[in-house]
Amino acid sequence: MTPETPYPDLAPESQALFARGRAVTPGGVNSPVRAFRAVGGTPRFMASGTGPWITDVDGRDYLDLVCSWGPMVLGHAHPAVVDAVREAATHGFSFGTPSPGEVLLAEEIVSRVPSVDQVRLVSSGTEATMSAIRLARGFTGRSKVVKFAGCYHGHVDALLAAAGSGLATFALPDTPGVTGAQAHETIVLPYNDVAAVEAAFAAHGDEIAVVITEAAAANMGVVAPASGFNAALARIAHAHGALLVVDEVMTGFRVARGGWLELEARTDNSWTPDLVTFGKVMGGGLPAAAFGGRTEIMAHLAPEGPVYQAGTLAGNPIAAASGLATLRSCTPELYVHLDATAATVGRLVSGALSEAGVVHSLATAGNLFSIFFSPESPLDYDQARTQETWRYAAFFHAMLDRGVYLPPSAYEAWFVSAAHDDIALDRLVSALPAAAAAAASAHPDIAKEYA
Ligand SMILES: *Cc1c(COP(=O)(O)O)cnc(C)c1O
Repeated sequence: MTPETPYPDLAPESQALFARGRAVTPGGVNSPVRAFRAVGGTPRFMASGTGPWITDVDGRDYLDLVCSWGPMVLGHAHPAVVDAVREAATHGFSFGTPSPGEVLLAEEIVSRVPSVDQVRLVSSGTEATMSAIRLARGFTGRSKVVKFAGCYHGHVDALLAAAGSGLATFALPDTPGVTGAQAHETIVLPYNDVAAVEAAFAAHGDEIAVVITEAAAANMGVVAPASGFNAALARIAHAHGALLVVDEVMTGFRVARGGWLELEARTDNSWTPDLVTFGKVMGGGLPAAAFGGRTEIMAHLAPEGPVYQAGTLAGNPIAAASGLATLRSCTPELYVHLDATAATVGRLVSGALSEAGVVHSLATAGNLFSIFFSPESPLDYDQARTQETWRYAAFFHAMLDRGVYLPPSAYEAWFVSAAHDDIALDRLVSALPAAAAAAASAHPDIAKEYA
């Protein structure tokens, strides 16, 4: 395949499955962003993946720059992970008892994150943040939660106020089904605004149980925390007897061996969070997530303490095997490669857009990155939403037609894996000029053309 013979935007097998899916599943998808609503067109149903490539049901292959939204940090069907999962599966799927892999996975996480003495394993990032909030409320005996606009922590009721991710895409300020009472306990502040945090604590300091923040915001596009922002959150929360939850579901074990906390500790190790949440990479593509922190706080969880939390499939042996095999392959060398690959992809994309005269900025936080179709990288959610998202729709489809799979929304981070090699980058390089030209000539009604 060459850029002169792009995949047409016709995908008969995907279209047929999408029609059947819509009959039995709302919108035909099991997570909203998959439906392509922000960019138009038919979502591609993927049949298989290997390394940096994914293949759809029409037999077309794509360079994958989504990587399942982060978990596939080694690439698809990595032999070490496939072997570990196959081996685990032959021993039975789930026992409803403790099993050895859970201990090994917990030990691996604890060994990588100094502020975490103990973890509790759960099955999704949403469960991890939900449980961390409950534990923080139980520990402090307080009720209010501070979160930041544009930060996404899963679809936890109390945290769905001004969330990013799918909600940024759909510009839903709020969601029906979350009650006023739940939202009332949540204080939403602008990201990177220390003065707003000081003011919130001055007004409600003795009612605030917890501040939750993404370690580096990456669900409104990538918006790095300003230097000292996370440290200030810890200082202010602790001065008022509140806890700080750092959500590393996306950044954890991706931006460094010890996640974003390790990156920050290299220049400032004067502060620590109280609780940390994990997901995505730590499951290696199977459902596994975790929350953890100091023993003193974690001891408040059942059965040791009074705060209830449980899960039929929590610590599932096959998911634990996938996660452990993935983390064991995430060596210091892997992070060097990942950083370099992410930087190369960002440079190539930004270079092609500049060449075509497209106003944009490349936003980075460690090896996480995204492109904003606005002149400056934003510092908060309001600034993030000033971009020309319709240019992204045109860019996205031109890339898709040329065999490159990007996030189907301008408000998502892009992901690479250790398997993204020179051949993979060749695909990107050949697709970029036409896609940059499409972004340059795009107009605000572009999504309608793909509807
Ligand atoms: C993906 C994500 C979540 C939610 O995880 P799920 O497994 O989708 O429930 C929570 N927090 C952050 C920062 C995320 O990126």
